[in-house]
Amino acid sequence: METGLDYLTGGYGEDWMQKNLNGVNFDIGHETQPKLLGIGLMYPNPLANLSANNITIGSTVYLHAGFENSGWESPDFRVDTMIIHELGHVVDDRSSILGMGDLIGGGDGDQLMAFVGGKSTSVLRFLPNTLSIPPENAFISSKGWGYGNSAPAEYFAQTFSGTIYNPYDPHLPIAASAWMSAFLNRTR
Ligand SMILES: [Zn+2]
Repeated sequence: METGLDYLTGGYGEDWMQKNLNGVNFDIGHETQPKLLGIGLMYPNPLANLSANNITIGSTVYLHAGFENSGWESPDFRVDTMIIHELGHVVDDRSSILGMGDLIGGGDGDQLMAFVGGKSTSVLRFLPNTLSIPPENAFISSKGWGYGNSAPAEYFAQTFSGTIYNPYDPHLPIAASAWMSAFLNRTR
């Protein structure tokens, strides 16, 4: 991740991470209950059992036990790009006033949406199949990249991960890569 950020920021990769990702927590195996507005998202809440998923709430990335052996819908199905994807949600969250950019918008994810002509078909930003996007700015759906087309929050996180991983990867929409490259450079 640092190498990718170094490339995009002219050698400021470590500074970028210290500035933008300070204080991020990782919870592996769901040792603590992720909460949103005080409401637990996992057991004992059977309606929203996310224990087989990874989820990012604010500055905490929850990775489920055995996450490293799962085939994630991340760029090239890689574990590192999956983790960088989750950190993209942190960036989106922190950029919105309520700290919930990847849930209700208002953050950098909305700026990217405006740039690529994407629209959310829901007031929520993470529900599957809620992204309307011009075909030329959609991810090419193979090797895990297509998950970025599923929702606005996923588009931002997948663009964040994919651009850091390889800004020239043909699965990554050129406009999204260009926006993210400029964004990472100006937030270094
Ligand atoms: Zn995601």
